[in-house]
Amino acid sequence: MPELPEVETVKQTLIPLVVGKRISECQVLYPRVLPKNHVNEFTADMINRKIITICRRGKYLLFLLDSKLLLVIHLRMTGQLVFYPEKSAPLAKHTSAVFTFYDGGELRFVDQRKFGTIYLMPDSQLHIISGLYTLGPEPLSKEFSSEILTKIVKSGRSIKSILLDQKKIAGLGNIYTDEVLYRARIHPKRPGSSLETAEISALYRSIVTVLQEAIAAKGTTIKDYRTGDGDRGNFQNKLQVYGKSGEACPTCNTLIQKTKISGRSSHFCPNCQRWDKS
Ligand SMILES: [Zn+2]
Repeated sequence: MPELPEVETVKQTLIPLVVGKRISECQVLYPRVLPKNHVNEFTADMINRKIITICRRGKYLLFLLDSKLLLVIHLRMTGQLVFYPEKSAPLAKHTSAVFTFYDGGELRFVDQRKFGTIYLMPDSQLHIISGLYTLGPEPLSKEFSSEILTKIVKSGRSIKSILLDQKKIAGLGNIYTDEVLYRARIHPKRPGSSLETAEISALYRSIVTVLQEAIAAKGTTIKDYRTGDGDRGNFQNKLQVYGKSGEACPTCNTLIQKTKISGRSSHFCPNCQRWDKS
């Protein structure tokens, strides 16, 4: 599932390709991609609109248009939002929607599992998208700090499930929570409230650096994720624990273990990420 670094990369790679372009045609091939809009109204509202810029909040992409409406896209499990310079490029089987530009290129939303969603609404009504409205702080924003993280982790829940909770902190998913906790040497099942000040500082630093490194590598492509220009990411080559159960820890050679936390598989090194440090 695309997480913050992948969605940020899609944004960064699409900006030079689609900002300033005007939409000539809009096709919705999978109507359920629009949970809140009617297909006919949606296409009528999108035609002739120009893309002014693209922003990201958590795992949501927000397209500012030259109208009072905001286009919001969530890629969910397998969504790909890719610009095709040529309209003649064959349409992928699982294409949910296509936005054609006057100069001939197309922005296509391809989604194999079909959980991805598109919304079009005035920004005064964004509260209708509850997952967007209730997002916690952006971990790469100036507002995020060790002090804010201290308040976020104060809970009896496991630190892994706190970090996965989009209401607590925006944008982290299963891959990056595992990597961040490994980097901070914190056992994923530790209750958040048991973390000491030094551990919270280490966690804060690892959240920021792992996300920055993953964005620099254009995200992690395990299977479906593509950048806005159709490339794969590179961070899968830099993962240290995620998906590595049974392999040697890069730090200490102990075998990486896998466990379930809140129904998600979690990977960790039982030696580097000891519950009891004594
Ligand atoms: Zn280790």
